[in-house]
Amino acid sequence: MSEPTPGGPPRKPVRMCVRCAVVTDAPVLVSEVHQNSGPGFNVYACPECAPHFPPMPDVLDLLQGGGGQAS
Ligand SMILES: [Zn+2]
Repeated sequence: MSEPTPGGPPRKPVRMCVRCAVVTDAPVLVSEVHQNSGPGFNVYACPECAPHFPPMPDVLDLLQGGGGQAS
């Protein structure tokens, strides 16, 4: 109650889609970036782009990837 409310809905937590750069108020987490120094950050996509992202890669999959992907 300390801040005056000029009216209107509260601001939603919006994110910018990493794929199409559209700002969406319904971001979908598609990737987590971990850093050694400091906290990591999350990568978001809009609901339309989210299905185009593969599931979060497993470290084991990356290590075992021999380039034999069937397409
Ligand atoms: Zn998008």
